[in-house]
Parts: sequence; C-alpha cells; structure tokens
Amino acid sequence: MALIVQKFGGSSVANAERVRNVASRVVETMQAGNQVVVVVSAQGDTTDDLIEKANEINTNASKREMDMLLAAGEEISIALLAMAIEKIGASVISLTGWQAGFKTNAVPGNARIDRIDTERVQSELDKKNIVIVAGFQGLDKYDNITTLGRGGSDTSAVALAAALGADRCEIYTDVDGVYTADPRICPNAKKLDEITYDEMLELASLGANVLHNRSVEMAKKYNVRLEVKSSFEKVPGTIVKEVTNVEKMLIRGVTRDNDVARIAIIGLEDTPGIAFKVFSALAKYGINVDMILQSVGRNGTKDIAFTVTKECLQKTLEVLENLKDTLTYEEVTHRDDLSKVSIVGAGMTNNPGVAAKMFEALFDADINIHMISTSEIKVSTLINVANAEKAVRVIHDKFNI
Ligand code: ASP
Ligand code: MG
Repeated sequence: MALIVQKFGGSSVANAERVRNVASRVVETMQAGNQVVVVVSAQGDTTDDLIEKANEINTNASKREMDMLLAAGEEISIALLAMAIEKIGASVISLTGWQAGFKTNAVPGNARIDRIDTERVQSELDKKNIVIVAGFQGLDKYDNITTLGRGGSDTSAVALAAALGADRCEIYTDVDGVYTADPRICPNAKKLDEITYDEMLELASLGANVLHNRSVEMAKKYNVRLEVKSSFEKVPGTIVKEVTNVEKMLIRGVTRDNDVARIAIIGLEDTPGIAFKVFSALAKYGINVDMILQSVGRNGTKDIAFTVTKECLQKTLEVLENLKDTLTYEEVTHRDDLSKVSIVGAGMTNNPGVAAKMFEALFDADINIHMISTSEIKVSTLINVANAEKAVRVIHDKFNI
C-alpha cells in the first residue's frame, strides 16, 4: 500500500463540478489500494477576492488579521471537498493546517514551516480515512494562524509528504505538466517527462508559474518524488526528481519574467568598498538583488546596474537617495519596462556554445540585450518587455527543443 499526497490548486476546485471531479479522483486513488492525503488551495480567485474585501475596510490591515482572513479560503475548500467525498460514500475527514500539525515561524503573510506534527493525520489514516488538509496555513508558536505566502499550498503538500514519508507527492493543476516554454506564447513548447529538482527550481523562480519555488527546494532537500499533472485530463505529467537523463536534452526550458526593474547608479566613485556599501544597505532593508553589472572604471568613476522585483523598486530608490551623504554618484536611473528571458538546463557549463547560441537567436531577431547573467544551469538576459514573447519563441526555435 502506497501513501500518496495529492495537491489540488485553486482552479481545480473552483466550482461544485470541479470539486466533485477532484473527489472522484481522490476516491479512485484510494480504491486502487492507496492511503491518500489531499492538500487543497482556496477555490478559484477566492484569495484575491478576500484581499480585495480587506482593502475595502482597511488598506493597512495588520498581517496577523490578513492571515486570519486568507486562511478562511482554504478552509472552505477542505470542507466542500470532504462533503463531496462523503457523498460518494468514502470515509473522509478535513483538517485545517493547524489541526494537521503545521507549525510555522512567526512571520505572518510569508511564514516558513518549522515542523509538522503528523500524529493527527497519521491516526486518521490509521482509521482508514482520506485526509483533506488545508494548504497555505499553519500556526506559529504564539498560536496565531499564519500563511505561507502566495502559492504556498504547493509547499504545504511537499512538506506534508516529506513529514509523512509519503511515496510520492502529486501536484494537480490546470496544465498537464512542465513545458519547455509557456505554451501560450510558444506553440512549439513540449511537455517534459522528467526534470531535475535544480532545473525545476530555476524554472520556478524564473517565472514558470507551475510550482511554488519553496516547494521544489523542499522536495529536493527531503528527496520527495514530485509529479505535476493535470486535474482534468488523465495523462502522464512531469516527474521532478534528483537525476534525469541529461544527455538527451541540454536545454530544458525558456522562461520570461516580467517582474523586474533595473536601477543604474551612474558615476560612482571608483574606490574599494563601494559595491559593499550599496548592496549591504539594500540587504538591510530585505531587498533582494538579482542581476548585477559593474562597468569598467573610467576617470575615477564607474557605474553599477542591478535588478530587483518591481515591488522593491520604490524602496530601492529611497535607500539609494538616503545613501547620498556617504556615497558619491552622479545620478540614479531606473526602468521597469524590461523582462528577464532565460534558458535553463543542467550541464550547461560543459557546453560553451550555449550562451552564444542564445545571443545569436536574439541578434537574429534584432533584440537588444541590456544585461546578462549566468550560472551553472542558466543563462539570463535582460531585454525590453515588448520583445519578451518573441525572444522566448526565437530562442526556443534556435535550440530546437
Ligand atoms: N490560496 C493561496 C493563494 O492564492 C495559496 C495557493 O493557492 O497555493 O496564493
Ligand atoms: Mg498555485
């Protein structure tokens, strides 16, 4: 008998018909001789709607009360799904995140799971129940309800699979797997049968919105076998695991991320410690910097350009403004009409021509590159957002993925 954790996202439980569909899939898995734990998200746009409701009352509500409100979305889903399963005649119980033993740190709105006390879930499984657990939520050490950050139900599911020692964790969603590019912008995109944790992690954080990136981190850490599948069609999905056949395909995917803003500090004094001064000040405010480019010094000055998410742009400009007394520079410029287009694939370091081939594809399409960054398994370019979709297509074609 296998223990399977199944996670269904918001679109998979968006209305009564879909809840019934999920219920029958869950019961089928149980009837095939498995123990089943199900993690669900809030229905459809419920979380967004709740945020809007909060904003109508108080746009500055405390994070604690926001978590109290948002956690309600998942609680609706678990009860409805349990009712649908009851109707089929199987034994089932729904549990909130805290009933299921999710203990998190005390960071409301973006909490991390510290541990999961699995006794309750385990005892319900022993009683032959299907166990439905609310994703996205937990309890901090002060007994406050916390949420894990947007999209956090994936992380709930993987964490629970790890804590229970489940045989696998199936993530059901409205796409039928992980693709080599977003099929909506690249009609030639292909579904991947397998992908490594590291590659998936890059794809997840580079804007392929299939999985919450913390869920992939966690799957890698605890070696949880993940499967991304369609909740509507019964076709094989994509398996995420440690090792795959890397010879077969070098480039796993092309992604774009439009959530980027670039800041350039022009005419900085060219002395030691400048980069340290700038980036430690940003770090102090929790601003995550992504790509960084420093120019060659000339006439005793240099330029530093870097990217942050759009949300951090304003704060970054303020921090730099406040550094004016201790830092000499001519001016700070910024743009937010850019996109980061990247290729991802393990084994890139051993294939020197990969980056050149990507740049050639962009050159052929007359697309200018503003910044470049590389790592062992990715090459990223910063280009104008207006060119982003075209860039994904031409790069995808160039590599003939
Ligand atoms: N309901 C939450 C959200 O919309 C969590 C999730 O869907 O995973 O972000
Ligand atoms: Mg999601």
